[in-house]
Amino acid sequence: MASLKCAMCGGDTELICCICKSASYCSVSCQQKDAPLHKLLCDRFESFLASNPRPADTFKSTYKLAILFPETKKLLELIWIETRLTYKEEEDKWEYDCNFDQYIEGGAVELDAEETVKWPLKIAYGPKIRQHNACLGFLIRGSGKLGSPGDDADQILSEYRGGIVTVGTLKTNAKKDHKERYRDITMNDLRHSLTFFCEWIYAHYSTDLSPFVVLDKPTWIKGVTIGSVYTMSLGCGKYVSELVQHDTKPFQNIKTFTSPILTHLGFPLSIITENSSLDWSLLEKDLRDDENSNEEGTMLLKGTNPSSDHSSWWNRTCLPGCNNSPTNFNIGTVTVYRNDHKDISEHHVEALVSYCKNVLQVAMKDESGVYDEHDKQAIIDTYITLAKFCEYFESFKKNKFSKETAYRRRAKPGEACKALELYQITVG
Ligand SMILES: [Zn+2]
Ligand SMILES: [Zn+2]
Repeated sequence: MASLKCAMCGGDTELICCICKSASYCSVSCQQKDAPLHKLLCDRFESFLASNPRPADTFKSTYKLAILFPETKKLLELIWIETRLTYKEEEDKWEYDCNFDQYIEGGAVELDAEETVKWPLKIAYGPKIRQHNACLGFLIRGSGKLGSPGDDADQILSEYRGGIVTVGTLKTNAKKDHKERYRDITMNDLRHSLTFFCEWIYAHYSTDLSPFVVLDKPTWIKGVTIGSVYTMSLGCGKYVSELVQHDTKPFQNIKTFTSPILTHLGFPLSIITENSSLDWSLLEKDLRDDENSNEEGTMLLKGTNPSSDHSSWWNRTCLPGCNNSPTNFNIGTVTVYRNDHKDISEHHVEALVSYCKNVLQVAMKDESGVYDEHDKQAIIDTYITLAKFCEYFESFKKNKFSKETAYRRRAKPGEACKALELYQITVG
């Protein structure tokens, strides 16, 4: 028997799932990791084949097994996709193309082969007018809920709308039979499809990963979303913990910027906005509406560099590629995470914002309340130190903790200890 590849790690293996006979694993550990996703189709695999025999080939069409992520249901389906012989005028040749009409309303959008080159798959999805895909949302978010906390939050995921069909492909020699351009889908392909979709998300609005997503992916770290006026109006918290996958495709396209204040404090924090298409040079003009107001996020972007010639570096928001950094602007909802890939909690970010607002901003002003341009270095030496922040954080915790205790006294005894644990941090 030819050596198979493990669905999870790609390692060589000869072990096959004994129920569907369509997934292979190198070890029990890899099999267990894949289990939540695998179970969604495994026991239906053989029964589908038994009760839905492959439609007979005709001269012009042949059928391949494919997986459908339905538009409105949360259940995966197996289907037979017709591949039809069609004439390609530009290339002056006949080729087999998939006919997605039955499953994807409004015209399928097919991903470039380049995008799925890692795994031999063809992925087709619906046009923009279609709904978000409930099935994909269910798998990635672990629930069917999409569009939260703001529409922008799911812009990456919502690229894939309507029904989604994935079918296996084969690299064919042009001279060979074009019927062999596609192949039946396997359960290994299901894992690969989901991994592909996950590459297009950068944040996960929960600190728990969906059980369907690979759990031990080392690139997920805990970050924090700071809500704007708009997301707050939707009932979301100001600081929301979430998992961030910082090495994915969306991150490569997004301008992230480092918080100058926090770098001095020892927290190398990156800040990204939900809107990846923002043109920062237009920022001053475009983002002054109240809905995008986010005082806390802005606070973290204040400049503190005393050696810079730019006057903008002192208590002004520092934006890359924006020389004339505005003193006041609105950035909308932002997500922050640590550059050194350590976790950061919402309590921690809340304390940092509070420190900037209540200690630093106050210290930066002279007696008459004007921002002091003279003793920059002295202010930095005194206030922008880790020791000073840690001291503040202790009192912040105590204050917060007493409020939590008062609240929790009405709840369960022992809960207060948990609240205290949340504020334990390690710095460095
Ligand atoms: Zn493996
Ligand atoms: Zn199976």
